[in-house]
Order: sequence, then structure tokens, then C-alpha cells
Amino acid sequence: MSITSNLNTIKATLPENVTLVAVSKTKPVVDLMEAYEAGQRIFGENKIQEMADKHEQMPKDIQWHMIGHVQTNKVKFMAPFVSLIHGVDSLKLLQEINKQALKNDRIIDCLLQIYIAEEETKFGLDEKELTALLSSSEYKELKNIRILGLMGMATFTEDQNQIKKEFTHLKSIFDSIQNKDAQCRDAQQCISTENHFSIISMGMSGDYQLAIECGSTMVRIGSSIFGGR
Ligand SMILES: *Cc1c(COP(=O)(O)O)cnc(C)c1O
Repeated sequence: MSITSNLNTIKATLPENVTLVAVSKTKPVVDLMEAYEAGQRIFGENKIQEMADKHEQMPKDIQWHMIGHVQTNKVKFMAPFVSLIHGVDSLKLLQEINKQALKNDRIIDCLLQIYIAEEETKFGLDEKELTALLSSSEYKELKNIRILGLMGMATFTEDQNQIKKEFTHLKSIFDSIQNKDAQCRDAQQCISTENHFSIISMGMSGDYQLAIECGSTMVRIGSSIFGGR
């Protein structure tokens, strides 16, 4: 199967409200260009240097999403161009993104990563930490970032019920924040003053259909498009 046909097959199954991030980590630019020629404009990478190199070499109408764990000292390398950072999991990181966004005279869109899996190795905030972050005065001072939603990764398992439980958990956290946000009157108390909070990034090659059933609005698909890594 070619990248083009994989992409078309997947796109045909996605509901209209679900955005496809083509996860192109480790893949050469020729492969990304094939997806680009087939109409794909959103690419996800998990290493900042690799993403910056590809950004340099490829057409400028591509939206680059950082889906991996972000080290604070590397934010500056993507700040000029990154379109969405999925894996934000601390106030310290948000503050650095805000600082670099300001230097570049932009607002950088972010998702907060929530820990939903039963695996020690995965990153993310729990619900308490999320609430604490969003209600902190330090967060409210950040004018050059926007939180557009949440991101999560399910446990790597064959157990569909387990995965479904984790996705449903993320969706319920998302709903409660979105509700609060929609009702908020005082701009100081809002997460986003213009109801930007709308993205749930969940689902990968193995579990994206289930993720969509559970309310995902953004899927991150790599190997089903570009082949194994
Ligand atoms: C690699 C990766 C993906 C894509 O995984 P596939 O199984 O190849 O679809 C999605 N999300 C994150 C955070 C990743 O690191």
C-alpha cells in the first residue's frame, strides 16, 4: 500500500469534525512529501530538532504539531513556527513556551497532556494537577499561549475495555473544563476568553476508531499511513 492510498483510506473513515495529524517521526522528507501531495497539511513529530529540519526543507503551508515530550531548553527551536504543542504537562513548560512565543511575537497554541494510562512511563497531569494549574495566578499571567484542549495516550494493551475506560475518562475531564469555561463570565476566571477550548487529541493507529467513538476530535496516526518504524 502506498502512503497516498493509506491516507485516503483513513481520511474516508474520519468524521468531519475529526482532524488528522499525520505522525511522520523518523520518516524521510520524501515520504512526507507524498502525503503533502495527497493533500495532507498537518504533520506531527516527536523530536524538536527533526521537526525543525523538516520544517526548513518543506513547503511553508504545513502546520507542524509537536506531539512528543518537550524539554524546556528546546522550546526556543520550535517557537518561531510550531502550530500546536500537544504534550504540555507543567506550568514551568507553559511559562517557557509563553516566553519564547513573546520573543517571536506570536501566540502559541497548546494542549495539556493528561495522564490516563496505567503505565508509569507515560507523561501527563492528573485531574488535580490540571485544576491547580488552570486556576493558578501564574497561569493567568501567560498572554502568549492559548490552551486549546487536552491530549492523552491510552495504555498499550489489547484490552479494548481498558482503552475505552481511559478515553472516556479523558473525555469527561474535557467536558467538565469546557462546561466551566463556557459558563465563565469573568475573563480572569476563564481558560480561554473566546471559547477556544475545543480539542481532544486522542487515538493513534491502533486505537483511533475507539477514540473517535469516545469523543476524540484529533487523531495522531503514524504507522497506518507511513508504515512501521
Ligand atoms: C508515535 C506517536 C503516535 C503515532 O503512533 P502510531 O501507532 O504510529 O500511529 C501518536 N502519538 C504520539 C504521542 C506518538 O509518539
